[in-house]
Amino acid sequence: MKNSNNGLYVKIFLVLGVIIGGVIYLFNASIFERNAPIIKLEHNGFWNLKEPLKVTIEDQSGVKFYKVSLKTAKEEKILNHEQLMEPSGVVNINIEPIKSAHSLKNTNIEITVEATDASKWHFFSGNSAVKTFALTIDKTKPLINIIGNSYKITKGGSALVVFKATDENMKDFYIETSFNKIFKAQPFYKEGFYIALIAWPITQQDFKATVVATDMAGNVFKSYIPLYLQDKTYKISNITLEDKFLKGKIAELADEFDETQSVENSIEQFKIINETIRAKNEDLIHEITSKISTQMISDFKIEKMYPLVNGQVVANFGDHRKYFYEENLVSEAYHVGLDLASNAMSQIKPQNGGNVVYSDFNGLYGNMPILHHGLGLYTLYGHCSSINVNRGDAVAKNTHIASTGKSGYAMGDHLHFGVLVQGVEVRPEEWMDEQWIQLNVTDVIKSSKEVIDRN
Ligand SMILES: [Zn+2]
Repeated sequence: MKNSNNGLYVKIFLVLGVIIGGVIYLFNASIFERNAPIIKLEHNGFWNLKEPLKVTIEDQSGVKFYKVSLKTAKEEKILNHEQLMEPSGVVNINIEPIKSAHSLKNTNIEITVEATDASKWHFFSGNSAVKTFALTIDKTKPLINIIGNSYKITKGGSALVVFKATDENMKDFYIETSFNKIFKAQPFYKEGFYIALIAWPITQQDFKATVVATDMAGNVFKSYIPLYLQDKTYKISNITLEDKFLKGKIAELADEFDETQSVENSIEQFKIINETIRAKNEDLIHEITSKISTQMISDFKIEKMYPLVNGQVVANFGDHRKYFYEENLVSEAYHVGLDLASNAMSQIKPQNGGNVVYSDFNGLYGNMPILHHGLGLYTLYGHCSSINVNRGDAVAKNTHIASTGKSGYAMGDHLHFGVLVQGVEVRPEEWMDEQWIQLNVTDVIKSSKEVIDRN
């Protein structure tokens, strides 16, 4: 008797256990989950009625139903709705721009998304969510007007452009080129106007520059800068590497750099110095000289550059140097500055004031100060024996900033004079030519201001 009673209790307990366990299981199972669907809309507050709006609804038990509607000041309409036969964990909806919405212009709308999941919670009716997104309809493209530009650009050289860029919801604008370089513009003279120096890198066969503006709604406008392209042939120098040079200067440099510490072979040392270290040094220069201010300027005055009194040109900008050893081409490089030589340790006195943005040793360039003259125009002074300025200094024109020397990769005492426009090395000759500056910079600024004043 006792035994059979005990048996019954055990059975009751087991059954109760299964029921309680089942209830706990169901309560926690996804079919009874209590989380409302999560509704997301990809947007930044604007819609140009071109690209579909992307809505994502996620839910643990699966989305069973959704509805997307649009509300304007005048109307309310359903854009999309669906009762899903198979509840889905993630639903992606593309809301195509509706026809009637095209009459909307720069208006504010509301997109409301409602969703219900497949949970048995709420007496089998499921969890619901409603989310409303406020969007501004903007179908108007930004406006770009080229106000003035240099008449031409020479391969390896610089040019100036002034333009107007306006949009109610402007996101970004810049100058796009055919060679993967973006130039930024600086606010100029009056609101909505911008100015930029641009450059045609020596390594590029072709040149094309376009002002591109995009707004928050994704509308894009492009305006081509009409420049006459002047091709220019630069010298190709075939240089034979002599053992004397490899065992001398190169061995000496190889001792200095980390990259060549364990390299014994002279040609390998030369390749690393001429390619790897040069690229590293130039990357640093490009990074420092790519910056441009966002402050409005009302003018940009630049004097003819002539950093070294009685400096004789000993190597030109743009020389394409090909290095041979025992008749094999082993390495090459572009000389992206102008080499000027005078007496040893001559005073370097730039004709334009500026801010010192770098004043340190830089590998092949030796001791190297860099000045920023504004508008992304920089000058660089390589191989100096000493530097008299510090980073952050503002120097007046004709200041003795450094003295020539042969630090870095230099054979004799000389100045490697570099001019850069937003990180691109350009022909110093142009900036050393008063007439070129007048025609391509000063006159363009003057005539652009006249146009702006009439605007
Ligand atoms: Zn040089």
